[in-house]
Amino acid sequence: MSDTDAAAIRAILIVGGGTAGWMTAAALAHALPRGCTITLVESDDIGTVGVGEATIPPIKLFNDTLGIEEAEFLRETKGTFKLGIEFVDWAKQGHRYFHPFGTFGKPFDLVAVHQHWLAARAAGGRVPLDDLSMAWGAAKRGRFAAPMADPRSVASTFDYAYHFDAGLYARFLRRYAEARGVIRVEGRIADVARDGTSGDVAGVTLDGGRRLAADLFVDCSGFRGLLIEGALATGYEDWTHWLPCDRAVAVPCVTGGDGLTPYTRSTARGAGWQWRIPLQHRTGNGYVYCSRHLSDDEAAATLMANLDGEALAEPRHLRFTTGRRRLFWNRNVVAIGLASGFMEPLESTSIHLIQAGIAKLLAYFPRGRSDPLAAAEYNRVAITEYERIRDFLILHYKLTARDDAPLWRECAAMPIPDTLALKIAHFREAGRLLARDMDLFGPASWLAVHIGQFNIPAAVDPLLGYGGGAAASATFVDRLAGAIAGMAESMPTHAAYLKRIGAAA
Ligand code: FAD
Repeated sequence: MSDTDAAAIRAILIVGGGTAGWMTAAALAHALPRGCTITLVESDDIGTVGVGEATIPPIKLFNDTLGIEEAEFLRETKGTFKLGIEFVDWAKQGHRYFHPFGTFGKPFDLVAVHQHWLAARAAGGRVPLDDLSMAWGAAKRGRFAAPMADPRSVASTFDYAYHFDAGLYARFLRRYAEARGVIRVEGRIADVARDGTSGDVAGVTLDGGRRLAADLFVDCSGFRGLLIEGALATGYEDWTHWLPCDRAVAVPCVTGGDGLTPYTRSTARGAGWQWRIPLQHRTGNGYVYCSRHLSDDEAAATLMANLDGEALAEPRHLRFTTGRRRLFWNRNVVAIGLASGFMEPLESTSIHLIQAGIAKLLAYFPRGRSDPLAAAEYNRVAITEYERIRDFLILHYKLTARDDAPLWRECAAMPIPDTLALKIAHFREAGRLLARDMDLFGPASWLAVHIGQFNIPAAVDPLLGYGGGAAASATFVDRLAGAIAGMAESMPTHAAYLKRIGAAA
């Protein structure tokens, strides 16, 4: 046996069995089929956070990598398709826009599509930017079909994700992981022991005295961060001054209203915003709000007064502090999921961050209990990923023209990170979309929010001055919108598509 073998990780303990715990367990069981014992400890008495239903397109890669078939996954989790997010009343009351998955059309020359749209608009064109998105073309008609592979087709220009019942997803992944050798231990962790010499976490003790030791610990214990904070006191960077919402109240209801929309809706309210996520068997709803401006009772009353159909449970209250752990990987503990930090679900990024954490853990898998170089790189990448998403979320609050409530006035006036200020300034000047290293959301996403929230450029790309002029741009825009509308009309309804592929539960 070489030194490397002697030092290798032989036992992993995952602490927590929410979405984060079981996604981690499933992925590690798949990636490490032999030579390592993977144990997951969870407590039914404590339970899970019990929310988190909307995702972004990379989730497909996670399922694909694990060999999970789409129709089976949707049946098991009562899932639906998601083409993006409709933002209602964010820029101002009575206004709506769509953040689509995919792009706005396909470029027809070297100038970006949105520059042609801006030129056509300046010349009096009235086609909304949303109508240049294939995802919105389908979404607003309640239609869905998988994107086409042919890059010449406008039906290749969109992407999709899912809405699903996160509790059912965790159960599904538990079956997957246990079938591949993951050992589940039921019990409440009462104590965490550290090695007297190295300071690493050595093991946990459950109520009743059972002790579980491991080489590597993955802290998926939720907001409490049992190991990363409770045992290692890693510290937390608080971002509430940029993202002031700190509470949520959630309730499922009977699906009514617009029915099985293939998109999430986010409606801005006086002290935050409300989500609507349609699943096959119910609709998930929640009000994310700022406790400085709204009481818990008022939030619950607003939520209950704005449901599509009859509530299916009592409203559940949740508290959070937006921000991140100072380190995501500290000693021999890697925090994944809510244990690592939290950003409100405005762009459905939390489950993605779990996936990204798992991907990084596998990419920098430690050579032994201690691997400072791997840990440092993991932390560098994770911090950057978090900050990029943070900036995108702040954009929604900063670019509001609402002045009807203190929260919105405060957000419009608040100082923002320099990285974000630069992006806003570039777009405002000439519609330039700055890409930064490790941006999760690409130019089309930023474009949707800039335009959707009235950050209209003062000028268009100077390259347009060398082309066919505003008339050519207007013709291109009209044709593109027409092609998208025609393609969308030919798609099946969302419900029919779920049935057709055998995904309806
Ligand atoms: P939890 O679900 O809290 O699980 C923690 C686990 O640790 C549990 O199994 C618990 O039993 C265990 N545990 C804790 N302490 C102990 C102990 N002492 N002993 C033994 N076991 C213990 N994400 C999205 O991607 N999309 C969304 O739309 C979305 N919406 C959200 C809305 C709200 C209001 C909130 C708060 C979050 C939302 N999220 C969303 C985030 C998402 O819910 C979480 O990322 C996801 O559920 C993962 O949670 P978790 O597994 O980290 O923690």
